[in-house]
Amino acid sequence: EQVAYQPIDTTGLLQERRRHFAGNLRLSYAMPCTLVRGWRHYLFDDWGNTYLDAYNNVPHVGHAHPRLQAVAAHQLRMINTNTRYLHPAQIAFAHELLAKLPPPLSVCFFVNSGSEANELALRLARTFTGARDMITIDHGYHGHTTGAIDISAYKFNHPAGSGKPDWVEVVMAPDPYRGPYGADGERYAAEVDRAIERIAARGRRLAGFIAETFPSVAGQIIPPPGYLAAVYRRVRAAGGVCIADEVQTGLGRLGTHYWAFTTQDVIPDIVVLGKPLGNGHPIGAVITTAEIAQAFDNGIEFFSTFGGSTLSCAVGREVLRIIDEEGLMANAAHIGNDLLAGLRELQQRHPVIGDVRGMGLFIGVELVSNRTTRAPATTAASYIKERLRAERILIGTEGPYDNVLKIRPPLTFDRAAFTVLLERLDTVLAESFIARVVE
Ligand code: PMP
Repeated sequence: EQVAYQPIDTTGLLQERRRHFAGNLRLSYAMPCTLVRGWRHYLFDDWGNTYLDAYNNVPHVGHAHPRLQAVAAHQLRMINTNTRYLHPAQIAFAHELLAKLPPPLSVCFFVNSGSEANELALRLARTFTGARDMITIDHGYHGHTTGAIDISAYKFNHPAGSGKPDWVEVVMAPDPYRGPYGADGERYAAEVDRAIERIAARGRRLAGFIAETFPSVAGQIIPPPGYLAAVYRRVRAAGGVCIADEVQTGLGRLGTHYWAFTTQDVIPDIVVLGKPLGNGHPIGAVITTAEIAQAFDNGIEFFSTFGGSTLSCAVGREVLRIIDEEGLMANAAHIGNDLLAGLRELQQRHPVIGDVRGMGLFIGVELVSNRTTRAPATTAASYIKERLRAERILIGTEGPYDNVLKIRPPLTFDRAAFTVLLERLDTVLAESFIARVVE
């Protein structure tokens, strides 16, 4: 008997979604994608159409990696339980992770998301210092939970946000392209002095500084050399601890460095990991020093039901091994370099491209309507994102003005992929809509 092919009813899905989910559960694109399969840096809809994934950083080692399928299936057949019992997978994952981190970072906490990891980092900083106040970078994002939103200027400064909490100080992003101090890292860092003075003026003390090591939500910013060292010096002198949110930048994405903080010659007191660590399986991690972990071990049990589950540990460890064994960091370095060179070549011919920046496969292309005034070309960015989607290439937009094209693919990205991306981007940049945006 022949069975007729039943395509997915996308209109129905959309209607039901509107009925059963809040409207701020956003969909990407005016014409949403219904995706049913993934493979390396490719995605497929139910008609078999192929999309190039130049955006998603969660599938760090590629979508649907066979080794992860095998490890997860095996672990689910054996046991999946929690950290109240011993299992070699917990230790193996911790060893593998700590081998990538410099001393004195030596103690791991496993949780389920970046938000949870940042919540825990905040608690660690406060318990260790006995202080409450935090300094964070403008337009930063650290998660969707109550505490994480309180340290995420991107959320609390939204017109509908609850505003800056009285225990938070915001410093400007060290943005060499748009910031007032150009590439002078020391001057951006000096903002921290003023933040510390304001905290002291309120009669309070500093618990810590938290930042995405390279501000991603603020527009794929590469801070000037020396910035974090100058910030960390000030924070530590004021008694605070330094938290590096490496959710977007860690695990080899930058190509030349496994962590963004090493490019800045600093060692944080607390490192926060999420998104790529489980390649889609929910894993967050906090890694800190023995000293901070000891202060936190104050009699109150630390327990996360799913954090550090046998399955999560098996998956996380396999992700770390795949990154090494498939040479994905080196791939990010050389593919990222060539992709950046290609984007800079487009910049020569397309005046809407004000800035091309990045390291490895962490890339931003900032669009402006006028190269002299650097006026943000927000509509051009959303036009390009939508047009590339129509060409079945997925990228994002980011930054305070939403005018930065965000290119942040799985680390399997290759020459064939970026050649298509550059070709289509070149075509779209030449379209009349873009010409009308440029002054
Ligand atoms: N920190 C950063 C830098 C992030 O980009 C994100 C997620 N976009 C988070 C934290 C929060 O992670 P999650 O969504 O897993 O809670």
